[in-house]
Amino acid sequence: MRAPSTAPAAGAEPPRDCPLCPRLAGFRAHWRAQEPGWHNAPVPSFGPSDARLLIVGLAPGLRGANRTGRPFTGDYAGELLYQTLLDFGFATGRFEARPDDSLVLTQARITNAVRCVPPENKPTTDEMKTCRPFLSGTLAALPRLAAVVALGKIAHDQVVAAHGLRLSHYKFAHGARHALGPITLFDSYHCSRYNTNTGVLTPEMFRAVFASVRRFLDTGV
Ligand code: SF4
Repeated sequence: MRAPSTAPAAGAEPPRDCPLCPRLAGFRAHWRAQEPGWHNAPVPSFGPSDARLLIVGLAPGLRGANRTGRPFTGDYAGELLYQTLLDFGFATGRFEARPDDSLVLTQARITNAVRCVPPENKPTTDEMKTCRPFLSGTLAALPRLAAVVALGKIAHDQVVAAHGLRLSHYKFAHGARHALGPITLFDSYHCSRYNTNTGVLTPEMFRAVFASVRRFLDTGV
């Protein structure tokens, strides 16, 4: 069996000093000066290039992926996401919130709709649009891709737009499922601490989405 590769495909990964969003490049520079030991750069996708599932988040958290360099690693959102991926057979090993832990993704790849950390976790509409070609490149670089999980409405909108489809025809709703050509898009509320603390998203609600994805990938239903 061919070993999974984590090498990015051309067009899927921005350069470390990507200048396309001046506000975000400035924010990165600020944090490089403040915290030179942090990643402070576009966060690359994580997971095998033969993945059948792509999980799309919003953007790196300042002290999470922006610090560690791995999506959903180092802040609360990763705790729920990676435990769920382990439970549903999309990962092996042990998640310890650091990039050199033993966690390995199997069949799943994780990316963000916006690759650089935005101030207050809020990218602008222009920044989302500017970063979208890297999401398109990520989608195009997964030849076995069958399912996408969008974590939150922004990720959902970015995935729909990356397919050249009209947002008005594909409404975000937790638990919704949309056919985007050969790919099926599954929507979930984002697994942020805010959403889980306020009860917007419970672990059971999150698990139900991944149970549907698992069933879809295993049986086509
Ligand atoms: S958010 Fe995307 S397009 Fe903007 S600077 Fe970062 S990598 Fe480049």
